[in-house]
Amino acid sequence: HIDERIDIRGNYEIEEIGIAFNEMLTTMEEIDDSRQRFVANVSHELKTPLSSMKVLAESLLCQDDVPNELYKEFMEDINAEINRETKIINDLLTLVTLDKKESYLNIDNTNINALVEQVMRMLKPIADKKDVILEIESYREVFAEVDETKMYLVFMNLIENSIKYNNEYGKVTVTINADHRDLNIQIMDTGVGIPPESVDKVFQRFYRVDKTRSRDTGGTGLGLSIVNKTILLHGGSIKCLSEEGVGTTFIIRLPLSQTMK
Ligand code: ADP
Repeated sequence: HIDERIDIRGNYEIEEIGIAFNEMLTTMEEIDDSRQRFVANVSHELKTPLSSMKVLAESLLCQDDVPNELYKEFMEDINAEINRETKIINDLLTLVTLDKKESYLNIDNTNINALVEQVMRMLKPIADKKDVILEIESYREVFAEVDETKMYLVFMNLIENSIKYNNEYGKVTVTINADHRDLNIQIMDTGVGIPPESVDKVFQRFYRVDKTRSRDTGGTGLGLSIVNKTILLHGGSIKCLSEEGVGTTFIIRLPLSQTMK
């Protein structure tokens, strides 16, 4: 009887190991697939500005007497493409750093209101160009243990988007709140909104609802994946609510203290 039991148990364990092994293989295949997709996306995104630069440079090279004005115009376009390429590479490097297993945070007790105000001051010139009003709603100053530099980038990305994808004379309202445990922030805009089928995809790398519009406004499609990664690293969460033609709201929850993570 004992021998039988051992055998049954042994078979059972072998079966379990088999299942776990198959699951591991599937996960590895999935990782491989997503890595391949990522590399394909990166190559495509990096090639686009390069192709434009090549066309511009070649059309200058094949003319003998290029008028000064035309030369300058082409050079400005080449320069804009270089800036775009640089932004994609910088965003990719940021993502790679956040992806690392040993990715760490430089935690400081940070005044969140002051950080948001600083971002708004930086973005005011772009908002003014579209007559978009930037507003903070907060009843008290909130301090939280965060990596200030990384969270500055988070607010920068989100508030810049809410201006970029806003209408003229629109509004952006950042609401800062906290309970005993969490910091709650909402970034709400009165912009173009996101179609329902895209709302869950905006945090994916390189995902853009409208590629042309995003490219025209200098987007790389990586901003929200950097935002999402950073918030997850802090032990928080972010979600997006949106209605086309009405506006978009990003809701962030972050633990006030990293020991409550
Ligand atoms: P991008 O560099 O294209 O702005 P993001 O990762 O920041 O990339 O955003 C991904 C996409 O999500 C954008 O291309 C845009 O289509 C959509 N999006 C992001 N924020 C907003 C917003 N506030 N309102 C409407 N659409 C938005």
